[in-house]
Amino acid sequence: MLDYSKSFIEEQFPVAKLSKESYRERKAGRSQTLTGLGKWWGRKPLILVRATLFGALLPVSDDKKKDKDVFLRILTMDEDGLRKRAEFQNSKKKEYVAPWGVTYETILNESCRPEEIDGPSEESWTIINEHLKTDAHNLQELAQALGKNRFGHIPQVGDCFAGGGSNVFEPARMGCDVYGSDLNPLAGLLTWADLNILGSSEAELAELKSFQEEVFDAVCAEIDALGIERNEEGHVAKYYLYCNETTCPECGYKVPLLPSLIVSKKEKLVVQFEEKADKTMAMHLVKAVDMKAVDKNATVQKNKLICPHCHQATSIVALRGGEDGKNLRKWEKTDFVPRENDLFQERLYAIKYVDVNKKGKTTDGLRKKPGPVTDATFGTSYYREPNAQDLAREQKVQSYLAEHFDEWQEKGYIPSAEIYEGAETSRLMRERGWKYWHQLFNPRQLV
Ligand SMILES: [Zn+2]
Repeated sequence: MLDYSKSFIEEQFPVAKLSKESYRERKAGRSQTLTGLGKWWGRKPLILVRATLFGALLPVSDDKKKDKDVFLRILTMDEDGLRKRAEFQNSKKKEYVAPWGVTYETILNESCRPEEIDGPSEESWTIINEHLKTDAHNLQELAQALGKNRFGHIPQVGDCFAGGGSNVFEPARMGCDVYGSDLNPLAGLLTWADLNILGSSEAELAELKSFQEEVFDAVCAEIDALGIERNEEGHVAKYYLYCNETTCPECGYKVPLLPSLIVSKKEKLVVQFEEKADKTMAMHLVKAVDMKAVDKNATVQKNKLICPHCHQATSIVALRGGEDGKNLRKWEKTDFVPRENDLFQERLYAIKYVDVNKKGKTTDGLRKKPGPVTDATFGTSYYREPNAQDLAREQKVQSYLAEHFDEWQEKGYIPSAEIYEGAETSRLMRERGWKYWHQLFNPRQLV
């Protein structure tokens, strides 16, 4: 007797096996089905969504062992399904002998992911249909039949915080009607793309790709014409590291505010200060000998400025002039950088450049491959201290922004709204003197 008043997932769920499957999907890295379209943090593994969906749709019977067997067959996580997945993975080899008698992980490593094959074998479908009294020959038919038995219609799946889209994408592929929404526009875009682009035909994808290349080339040409992202060698900037700077009230030195001096953990690259005659601190990038000891010299520790010159500690709150920040000038609508006498200044102290000359460069200096610059796209990358030309480029960015600031605000390209007082937003005024949303971004970000 099938009982539709209960769901399989309410009685049992093979957590250990699903953990291993989820881990395997995560380890697939770039070849995961959804991540290719854009990055989302904490995207749910598709196999977990599929398991949850069928776990919720499946009725229970008196035979719990049989229920579990059928559930695993649907997910191709039973012996028969694993064999099919292993065969697919090894389809290039002439004859494949599955390594039975070993652990689930070992077999898993030899198999493709469930989503890469069309579903259970013919033999499994016979067993599944017999147990569930259905007549399904693919996963879509099964999900729809189970929905009709349970609800009287095709299952509807909704996710009001769709995030990376797994909860919408996978049920849609399983033949359900889906609804997804999110407050984050990026999440909305990614999920829309999962549904509409991943399912496109080859011709549509080719058209999309060539349009994308046109856009990337046009944007790239425009940025190159501005001369703000490429250095003397033609290398393209990937990261700009900025910090705040203030004057130590104890000794009058101008000092950077850095909670960590580490620039790159991987490269063991750290900031080292050098005292200058004009009471400023030069910042150099050096290789650290002892990475663990580096941040003992950080200039912000426990909400205090620790001066690298006189070593006196000053509370940041006191520096700001108390809780209401009376030492901070309130920024005006036209301000997008600190003024000369402002308490906190901004300073560029390191840039990561990517050597696009190694690979991917065309004769006109444009990158060959469209898309954002990544280490994987191009050869080597390196950090360096900004030189006079880098600082000149920073000036160029500021002038360009100043020139277009009013126009861009008017057109809505950059924020212009005032920050209203609230539990979190008042902090921006108290701690930085910021009164308008665009002040949360630096000139380069605004451009
Ligand atoms: Zn000092």
